Amino acid sequence: ADNQGENGPSPLGSTLTDVTALRAEHERLCAEGLKLDLTRGKPAPDQLDLSTALLDLPGAAGFRAADGTDTRNYGGLQGLPELRAVWSEVLGIPAAQLITGGNSSLALMHDSVVAALLNGTTDGPAWAGQRIKFLCPVPGYDRHFAICEQFGIEMIPVAMDDNGPDVAEVKRLVAEDAQIKGMWCVPKYSNPTGVSYSAEVVAELASMPAAAPDFRLFWDNAYAVHHLTDTEVEIADVLRLAAEAGHPDRPFVYASTSKITLAGSGVSFFGGSEANVQWLLAHLSKRTIGPDKINELRHVRFLPDAKSVAEHMRRHREIIQPKFDLVLSILDTELGAVDGVSWTKPEGGYFISLDVPDGTAKRVVELAGQAGVKLTPAGATFPLGDDPRDRNIRLAPTFPKIEEVEAATRALAVCVRLAVSESAA
Ligand code: PLP
Repeated sequence: ADNQGENGPSPLGSTLTDVTALRAEHERLCAEGLKLDLTRGKPAPDQLDLSTALLDLPGAAGFRAADGTDTRNYGGLQGLPELRAVWSEVLGIPAAQLITGGNSSLALMHDSVVAALLNGTTDGPAWAGQRIKFLCPVPGYDRHFAICEQFGIEMIPVAMDDNGPDVAEVKRLVAEDAQIKGMWCVPKYSNPTGVSYSAEVVAELASMPAAAPDFRLFWDNAYAVHHLTDTEVEIADVLRLAAEAGHPDRPFVYASTSKITLAGSGVSFFGGSEANVQWLLAHLSKRTIGPDKINELRHVRFLPDAKSVAEHMRRHREIIQPKFDLVLSILDTELGAVDGVSWTKPEGGYFISLDVPDGTAKRVVELAGQAGVKLTPAGATFPLGDDPRDRNIRLAPTFPKIEEVEAATRALAVCVRLAVSESAA
């Protein structure tokens, strides 16, 4: 952590806990007119600059794919073979079992849920009309929960620990309740905790008995190559393990280049058994004649193999790791001694998950808002925005400039200390 030690002593002094003094400090912050934002996990402009070359690709003369396909035209629903070959290697999924989608893997997740609701899966009838439940490891990704909310799917929170979701609880629920048809999983560098699922957890999820024959793991591998340290986490191969356990159609795997190339103009991927691939292609064929092959081709030209992807991700890491280090070091200095406050130290991904004492998260977010620091609403990391302990706050340090990350985190620390002192008063 290069930044550690450069942050200077705490401006508050490490013993300051007095509510009156903290209120005065908070008022000074409010008067500063800060305008800072730690809410969404977006790449910073200098990260997007790493992919500027894409904007000139494939070039006027370069629109033919390897097999001569004119990428300007319709067709090619499953995605360009050469693009699937590259990402097959990156994601560890056979190219025949990969589909490329448009610019958003979230859209593929949404479409998979809709297809299951309206038409059923490879091994069960339409979910619509049935009472449907999904397991939701918490804290988790609000947009997953929003898909469930949109379609009236009941969400059952399951606690996360350092190895992934509480697998004993998951096994118990899935074995006894046939209404549980799905489970959201971010298996690597989870949003927001940064936790990666252990090999044992992946094996259990792939092989556990399920009361619903059409139970699905929505395996959102959004941070497959988004390392923040030299310890590059590898997770177990859920598709292979599920197939070996006799549940080949259980995992729906998703990924995208949103936080690799251009967040708004990347390529997304679906991976699954050959039956699931045919299932999704049949649905996709009703909504599109084919994907944006020009975008696919420029992605192959720009990142032609797994090695180039890894090198590109190292450049991202150079930009964002200092921001993570800075947040962690400020939290250490300012909040390390505050009872009931803890946070994750992610080895990858885009987030830090901060836990404050029970019943204070909303107040922290409110105080930060007054001081001009926008935080993700407290509760957003739980189904229906309801964090029963009101204690989790998701921090996203990638987008702001490093000076802004510093100012925002220092202000956040004041707000946490004030909220904690108020609740003790
Ligand atoms: N899944 C997770 C876990 C995410 O954190 C995000 C973005 O923050 C997404 C999916 C969005 O992916 P995409 O841009 O491919 O739609």
